[in-house]
Amino acid sequence: MIVVMRPTATQEEVEGVRRAVEEHGLEAFLSVGEERTVIGVVGSDIERVSHLGTLPGVEQVIRISSPYKLASIQHQPERTRVRANGVELGIGQELVVIAGPCAVESREQLMETARTVKREGARILRGGAFKPRTSPYSFQGLGLPALKLLDEAHQEFGLPVISEVVDPADVPIFEEHIDILQVGARNMHNFVLLKAVGQSRRPVLLKRGLSATIEEWLLAAEYVLSAGNPNVILCERGIRTFETATRNTLDLSAVPVLRSRTHLPIVVDPSHGTGHRALVGPMALAGAAVGADGLIIEVHPDPANARSDGDQSLGFEEFGALMDELRRLQFVRSTDAVPQATAVPIATDGIDDVRDRIDDLDARLAEMVQERASLALEVQRRRDPDAHGHDVRRERALLERAATGTTGPMTPAELTMVFDALLRASRAVQRRHSRAADRGKPDRAEPGRAAVSGSGR
Ligand code: PEP
Ligand code: MN
Repeated sequence: MIVVMRPTATQEEVEGVRRAVEEHGLEAFLSVGEERTVIGVVGSDIERVSHLGTLPGVEQVIRISSPYKLASIQHQPERTRVRANGVELGIGQELVVIAGPCAVESREQLMETARTVKREGARILRGGAFKPRTSPYSFQGLGLPALKLLDEAHQEFGLPVISEVVDPADVPIFEEHIDILQVGARNMHNFVLLKAVGQSRRPVLLKRGLSATIEEWLLAAEYVLSAGNPNVILCERGIRTFETATRNTLDLSAVPVLRSRTHLPIVVDPSHGTGHRALVGPMALAGAAVGADGLIIEVHPDPANARSDGDQSLGFEEFGALMDELRRLQFVRSTDAVPQATAVPIATDGIDDVRDRIDDLDARLAEMVQERASLALEVQRRRDPDAHGHDVRRERALLERAATGTTGPMTPAELTMVFDALLRASRAVQRRHSRAADRGKPDRAEPGRAAVSGSGR
């Protein structure tokens, strides 16, 4: 701590500060300049002299060390890795995707979502049981029955589960059913709750308060840590600013700022951070790119009819596409990648003859594309129904072969575009069929032969 004296401070006032420092067992180092005196204060419990700014002659007190200790990277240079029922989050671990509904609404809704997000590659299931809603008339969550449903989903699908605790008295019942205790944005300053989860043996995901500075947020984490719980995960979920185009302003710069100040793992929540479904994917990718250890994403089987936060919830297709993108960019690894060689062949007198040949080729291409989709579905049927099955290594090899293995007028970039579209469409088909299979119904959207336009003419 540095105490800057006023230029007009008297010798007695300088001595008054020195005495106050020494009386508290700290040391004072005076630096007497032409214009003013500056006093350096060192010692282990600097909080004891936090009143120095009120002493006569003092102009300013500047803190050098952070007010939080246990959360700070100075205190613990190795980054913390938090383990929650088999899933590790933090340094050296691949990005962990936490996904599930804003609120648990029914067994069917939760199980369907759990099955889907697991298959797509999520590693932790989220679901609100006690919802802190702005209006007392909004859906408040199912309460205890939802905790039991989350527990059931954990038993059935093996994913650890996270849910928000709003009442310190509920911590023991959460510990019975839930793997990670979430402290929501509205409760970041609820010190009684912070101390209660600090005494828990479960990891805590601490969301940033709606108008909390990073320092206040780290001090909230300090409450949990100092109560004895070392397993704290910080979650950036957007702060309130003057901007109204998004629900909150997702402060992604908080991620590198936190990295420089704390050893705790960091998760980004692009759902609450933006409030709009269309923005969730891009901001999730941005969160991964800026170095988050995890993402937490709201997913609902029918977002339009969700009982809370439907506008920002992804449907199954959208969540699947986002997971594909995260794998494509290698933020998430493909777990079932088995490299296999599969040959993928691509095959050209008056202008009317040439056009006829193009029409013929397009019809054959359409059939081949359908045949390819049928094979993709066969792969889907034969593999583990709970795996997402997206084999990025094989896809990449396929794209590379397509781009470089043929000669003709198309550039590698153009060929890549074609195959990229094919792969995406193929994944969409697989996803639709697996959903239909989950529901035990035949797929209504069995595609007819796709219309082929006479391209190239
Ligand atoms: C939630 O995750 O469902 C939630 C209520 O989030 P936040 O506390 O960030 O608003
Ligand atoms: Mn929500």
